[in-house]
Amino acid sequence: MKLSDDGKRLSYRHLRKEQNVLKRKRMGSSIYLFALLLLIIFFFMKESGLFTTFTIDQESVPPPANLHPVVEERSGQFIKQAADKGITVVITDGFRSSEDQDRLYEKGRTASGNIVTNAKGGQSYHNFGLAVDFALKTPSGNIIWDRQYDGNKNGIADWTEVVEMAKALGFEWGGDWAQFKDYPHLQMDFGLTIAELQRGKRPPNSSSLIADSEKDE
Ligand SMILES: [Zn+2]
Repeated sequence: MKLSDDGKRLSYRHLRKEQNVLKRKRMGSSIYLFALLLLIIFFFMKESGLFTTFTIDQESVPPPANLHPVVEERSGQFIKQAADKGITVVITDGFRSSEDQDRLYEKGRTASGNIVTNAKGGQSYHNFGLAVDFALKTPSGNIIWDRQYDGNKNGIADWTEVVEMAKALGFEWGGDWAQFKDYPHLQMDFGLTIAELQRGKRPPNSSSLIADSEKDE
């Protein structure tokens, strides 16, 4: 009597155990299926390029905090070329943080002075380390923005000479812009728009660019 009772209980327990195992097995396989599906979706998005545009944003790609090495290198080159012609160039501004840019934007608007920029923080190539502003230095040590000044007396305005040297090195000059002429401004955009830079796109790795230029030599 007691034995058979135990036997019943045992078989019942055994049955429940089997059912549980079956349930777990079924759950396990559906989890595997779900994971596999996620993996397939992930690879599909990665291949199609959908994924990158979704994940790259300002948060994941912080803006640089310095002048781009190539911009810095080329700036040094036109400064030297100008010096060889008797022109002293000073870089008055290079990398600018977004906060610095906002402050500059207020100049001539809520702050005193003339308007010097139409770009707010994050809207200027300076904010991505891709632009420099220059001025000239006279022998007496004055910093000037005189575009007619011909300090080396060769019949060509020093400003124009510097701009030509910078352009030959790949810079774009703000004085060529149709909308807002920015005469001290020189930039290298590496084919990237401000919108692209804001989305987190960056110029190619500087080391590979420098390596490429060294290969040419
Ligand atoms: Zn500038």
